[in-house]
Order: sequence, then C-alpha cells, then structure tokens
Amino acid sequence: MDQHRHRFDQLAWPAAQRAAQQAGATVIWPFGACEQHGPQLPLATDAVFAEGIIDAVLKQLDPTLPIWRLPSQSIGFSPEHQAFPGTLTLSADLILQLVSEVGAQLAAIGIHRLVLFNAHGGQIGLLQVAARQLRARCPAMAVLPCFLWSGVDGLADLLPIHERDNGLHAGQAETSLMLHMAPHLVGDERPVDGLPEVDPPLGWSLEGAAPCAWLTNDLSKSGVIGDSRQASAALGSSLHHLLIHHWRERFEALLATEWPPLESRLQNSSTS
Ligand SMILES: [Zn+2]
Repeated sequence: MDQHRHRFDQLAWPAAQRAAQQAGATVIWPFGACEQHGPQLPLATDAVFAEGIIDAVLKQLDPTLPIWRLPSQSIGFSPEHQAFPGTLTLSADLILQLVSEVGAQLAAIGIHRLVLFNAHGGQIGLLQVAARQLRARCPAMAVLPCFLWSGVDGLADLLPIHERDNGLHAGQAETSLMLHMAPHLVGDERPVDGLPEVDPPLGWSLEGAAPCAWLTNDLSKSGVIGDSRQASAALGSSLHHLLIHHWRERFEALLATEWPPLESRLQNSSTS
C-alpha cells in the first residue's frame, strides 16, 4: 500500500476528497505516446519514461506531501510518426477536450495545481495550449505543462554535441534510457538516420527558433532521427539518475510554495 501512497486512482473516494482539500493539493498527469521509436524501441517509449521517472520521483518525496499522480495518458498526439505502423494518434481537438474535461473535474473537487508531465516532444506545444485553455475555463486551478527533457541541468554534459543538436528521436539518449529502465524491450538494431540531406538556409532548422513542421518520413527510413550507435545502459543509468534528481528538486520546490500566482488567491488574501 505504502508504495502507492501517491496514486490518486488508488485512493477511496473519502480519501480523494480529503486529498483534494489539502492546501496546495497537486496532481500530476503523465503524458506519453504510442508511436514508432525506430526498429529498436517500443511504441510506448515516451509513456514508459513519463511514468517510470515520475514514480521514482514520487517514491523519493516526503510521503506527507499533498501530491498524487493520475493514470498515464499513453496515447497522445503523434501525426509526425503516422507513416510508421503501430503509431496511434489522437487528434489535437480530442486532446484539448480530454485535458479540459478531466482538468475541470479535478478543479471542481478543489485540486490546487495540475501538472501535465509530458515525455513526447511532438506534443509540447499542444499541451501548452491545452493548459492555457483549461486555466481559462477553471481560473482557481493552476495548470503547469512541462516536458521531461527540458531544462535539465547537466544533460548537455552527458551527450555528445551532435546528439544534443540532432538526436531528436530514438537516438542515443532515448535508447540508453530504455536500456537502463526496461532492457527487455530494446531490440538489437542501432540505426544512425534522419539527418537532412540538405543544410537548412541561414537561421532555419528542424527545431529551434525558426523550426519546420517535419514529418519523420521526410527525414528517416528507420524512424530514428539521430545516432543510436553509442547507446549504453551505463549512459541510461546516468540519465535516469539526472532526470529523477532534477524533477525531485523541481517538485519539492513547487510544493514548498504557492506558485504560480492566481488571481483567486489575491482576492482571498485581500479579504482575509
Ligand atoms: Zn520519444
């Protein structure tokens, strides 16, 4: 039982009611995808990472903190990978509606913060839109969309520069992390693939300041965009450690405050 202390869906309803009414009650919703990750990684790669990292973080947090996680959303928005069989994608409209409907019900019972904890790079923008839309619908609940790999100090030191810049999908980082977290799901192939044959014009790129809406099959036959040849369980272990450390710190810092600012709280404090 103890190990599942932070699973919202394993609470009985009176406990869920008490949970939602605690000051700063925070719910994390892990977001993955069901999409091709090259010939060597499973479709569930992003879902395995989102759920595995958040569970490891929750296990390390003080068990009295008011934080719980929802079941993972393991099918996401993956149209860029649709040319590869096995990829399943929901429409953007459906995901906006999903976040809005589930989020509104959490807000209605008094949840203070909802964190969308996403491990799929192709739905960062969509979940930011979903978060803003939900916030407008439910002003009393904060909504924080975040991406597993973003803003992680020390990540750059673990990866060679070409993978940092070009390893967008199923490359060295993801293959290594899976070799550490679930080696039985990793196949033997180690493609290097997906680098554009022509250099982008000055100031333009696949990702970054002036990106393009690429489809994986524009770039790659294997589904990999990057170089998976140097992947190793040892690197995966270092990445795993770094990600858990980073997100544990971030959640501890968040739970120690009332961040982010909400107008409803300003009103409460001016009347009390
Ligand atoms: Zn991925």
